[in-house]
Amino acid sequence: SWMSRLRQGLARTSIGGIFTGSKVDESLYDELESALIMSDAGVQASTTLIEALRQTVRKERLQSAQEVREALTDVLTEHLRALEKPFEVGAIKPLVVMIAGVNGAGKTTSIGKLAHALQAGGARVLLAAGDTFRAAAREQLIEWGNRNHVAVIAQEGGDPAAVAFDAVTAGHARHMDVVMVDTAGRLPTQLHLMEELKKIRRVIHKADQTAPHEVLLVVDGNTGQNALAQVKAFDTALNLTGLIVTKLDGTAKGGVLAALASGAQGCRPIPVYWIGVGEQLEDLQPFVAREFAQAMLG
Ligand code: GDP
Repeated sequence: SWMSRLRQGLARTSIGGIFTGSKVDESLYDELESALIMSDAGVQASTTLIEALRQTVRKERLQSAQEVREALTDVLTEHLRALEKPFEVGAIKPLVVMIAGVNGAGKTTSIGKLAHALQAGGARVLLAAGDTFRAAAREQLIEWGNRNHVAVIAQEGGDPAAVAFDAVTAGHARHMDVVMVDTAGRLPTQLHLMEELKKIRRVIHKADQTAPHEVLLVVDGNTGQNALAQVKAFDTALNLTGLIVTKLDGTAKGGVLAALASGAQGCRPIPVYWIGVGEQLEDLQPFVAREFAQAMLG
């Protein structure tokens, strides 16, 4: 299952293995702190977590490594709760979702998975192929839409902002529940990506004064500190409302979520709506702090 893949991946941090000994002493805390840092949690979050753990152990007079493991699971869960927020569909119609991310982050795959999940939940979804710079990206989205009976708005070599505008307008006219606007992750020219994305955001707003309702960044969970830098840069430009963190299967780097939650590198703790745990359609799962903490410390 996806949960066991997440567990297997995150288990490579070997945090779980640290608890196999029975002693609760300084070296246990040291090992835990190092393992958290190795998992990309960063120094700041790791220190905070271990300090909170020490306090709990003292206060509750915990004796065994097993009890400490459970305490750390609680501490990490509380910490990650800053990122936990359900993705809500239905209150606004159509819900306009702009999706950004650098090439290779897993944007196209995640859009497919997300559209699939939303349709399965009964929502009518319209996709806008906003990456007009990569013909392959557009073709991929159209083909994917055909296979999965999801409508796709595309325009050959057109202005991505115009595609976004058309999609939002069509979303209203066709009574869609969700309009998802894909965007380019890299431009072929010297044009600044962030300026292009800001323009798309402005044009979406022109088509619907309440939109975009969600601005999501797809970020590769394997890229560690670079993921934080991306979150910061895209948030500054676009005012993100949520993240999709991909490729958390088969990786030791899940700690990056702890770093995100603690506002490392000047990032706001932005909700992680979904995590990518594989390449199949069902491998996009809502982020649940406790499940994630359990997988990391399992
Ligand atoms: P884009 O350039 O951002 O649109 O990236 P793609 O969606 O094309 O994904 C790049 C590669 O990452 C593809 O091979 C995907 O199958 C893979 N990928 C995306 N998400 C995940 C994930 O959660 N887990 C794994 N293992 N692979 C993923």
